[in-house]
Amino acid sequence: MSNTNKQIRLAHYPEGLPADDTWKLVDGEIPQPAEGQFVVRNHYISLDPAMRGWIRDVRSYLPPVQIDEVMRAGAVGEVVESKHDGFRVGTKVQGVFGVQQYAVSDGKGVSPVDDSVAELPLFLATLGMPGMTAYFGLLEIGQPKEGETVVVSAASGAVGQVVGQIAKIKGCRVVGIAGGPEKCSWVVDELGFDACIDYKNEDVGKGLKEHCPDRIDVYFDNVGGEILDEVLKRLNMGARIPICGAISQYNNTDAVRGPSNYMNLLVSRARMEGFVVFDFARRYQEAAVEMAGWIAQGKLKYKLDINEGIENFPATLRKLFTGDNFGKLILKV
Ligand code: NAP
Repeated sequence: MSNTNKQIRLAHYPEGLPADDTWKLVDGEIPQPAEGQFVVRNHYISLDPAMRGWIRDVRSYLPPVQIDEVMRAGAVGEVVESKHDGFRVGTKVQGVFGVQQYAVSDGKGVSPVDDSVAELPLFLATLGMPGMTAYFGLLEIGQPKEGETVVVSAASGAVGQVVGQIAKIKGCRVVGIAGGPEKCSWVVDELGFDACIDYKNEDVGKGLKEHCPDRIDVYFDNVGGEILDEVLKRLNMGARIPICGAISQYNNTDAVRGPSNYMNLLVSRARMEGFVVFDFARRYQEAAVEMAGWIAQGKLKYKLDINEGIENFPATLRKLFTGDNFGKLILKV
């Protein structure tokens, strides 16, 4: 055990892309558990686009992180000290433990994970929050049916890679949209998508026309902005658009760009519906069991992008917004 607890704390609310000085790296104390508590040594921290929203001083589905507070983050680790009957020393756990090496917990919102089923970081990816987002967002909000065309943006990312593969399992035609030839080749050649449009080098409207000859039944929107507008031009009757996120807008310093082609929803009798993964928390186990089965059968593949060192948190987080991550972005601490 080291004798300090390295932590990333919020220095100020940033404008635009969070720079290094948004954060403070602090040598904190290793916490001691009180009665009914335990201490976790975090091994892997999840880096998520939602973090950008948590450091914006506005009302959202969770309160903003306060100045000087440890940055909020999902993590997986191991119980190293315990005064809690339900969590013994040595148990591997996942929870919202923050960007720090050690966290104290009373067990609320914490679940044990079995690292004999899958490698520990996968519980931050396909078997964790991004996987749950893909599973419930696609199946409950998108409701894809066999033979339909599903389009997903940020297709090689943590959520997108799972969305596309589940849609293939459900018998859909799947078209990804991703940045760069490497990501596009991977989702087609490795994950079995039918096509992928490289929005950084191709005309998205033309690509959608070519690869979605029967138009689009489900658009799983991870990015918003111009790509959403292009998709809206090619909807099928009764199309569904789960609004999962709008990463192209997260660092805007001016107003969020709304969809200017929204009247196509009327013409197509289509609907857009936002959702937050936590709404499905009571059903995570059901999704995890089904997805672990698909992984074991080789039907659901995954790519993790594991970076190292808590001091690299600021630069690593920025990769999400520049597209420099390839797969689920994780920090080993
Ligand atoms: P990710 O896809 O692993 O990483 C983010 C990716 O977004 C980047 O790699 C980049 O991929 C793409 N991107 C960044 N800036 C972009 C831009 N301006 N235009 C188009 N694409 C851009 O991240 P993730 O964790 O899976 O999250 C994906 C989305 O799901 C985010 O919007 C996130 O907020 C949302 N989400 C929502 C929920 C919920 O409960 N509703 C839960 C989890 C995540 P390219 O290189 O392909 O551009």
